[in-house]
Amino acid sequence: MARVALVTGGTRGIGAAISRSLKEAGYLVAANYAGNDEAAHRFKDETGIPVFKFDVSDLGACETGMRAVVEALGPVDVLVNNAGITRDVMFHRMTFDQWSQVVRTNLDSMFTCTRPVIEGMRERGFGRIILISSINGQKGQLGQTNYAAAKAGLVGFAKALALENAARGITVNVIAPGYIATEMVQAVPPEVLKTKILPLIPVGRLGEAAEIARAVVFLAADEAGFITGATLAANGGQYMA
Ligand code: NDP
Repeated sequence: MARVALVTGGTRGIGAAISRSLKEAGYLVAANYAGNDEAAHRFKDETGIPVFKFDVSDLGACETGMRAVVEALGPVDVLVNNAGITRDVMFHRMTFDQWSQVVRTNLDSMFTCTRPVIEGMRERGFGRIILISSINGQKGQLGQTNYAAAKAGLVGFAKALALENAARGITVNVIAPGYIATEMVQAVPPEVLKTKILPLIPVGRLGEAAEIARAVVFLAADEAGFITGATLAANGGQYMA
């Protein structure tokens, strides 16, 4: 029986690449999204991967959404907590709403998406939980106190959850991507990219979403059971923690 994987924010950007790669690797994949129906339906038509609309910052919505995933595909074996947002602004100008939106979507979602699946994983004696953090949660970034705090929080969450579930066949790991060539980064003017961003990346280029997806497939494998509580940097050498 194919294992079931749920990718939050799995219809666009890095998440879409993760969904596609897991499908190619033989998983039954469900992709979650927030509100961009057009992108989600295009993704579904292109890939055949079913999509599930719910807000990862809302516990009730997640519980309902997760039930729909289980009814459609079966219990979740692999959870990829990928959905994330930015609301960049210097802290001395940041509103509590800008802080709170990012913390709810990027950090509260660790509870809302993981809590509904963890008991089943423990009962079945198998689970792979993979959290998509960021280089900026490791090294900090101007204008991202909210984002850096939330993304750094994933690391502590992963280590504690890994300890609690290590004896139950469940691994919990973090991937910390650097600059990836998604729509967001490609929108940066080419001159800024060339003079300000690429010189910081020893590999000399942006990462590809598929390169993050490859790391997810590696950690999701049944054979990856000895790797837990780890943070895997995929940043072209930009920051070595
Ligand atoms: P995108 O903005 O391209 O895609 C985000 C996805 O998350 C979309 O599917 C979106 O749904 C979904 N999403 C956003 N908010 C919610 C929510 N509240 N509930 C459910 N789904 C939600 O993001 P990226 O691919 O750029 O980033 C993916 C992850 O990787 C994020 O956690 C990000 O922080 C992290 N990351 C990205 C880097 C980069 O260079 N791009 C670098 C380092 C880390 P919808 O389409 O409906 O809006």
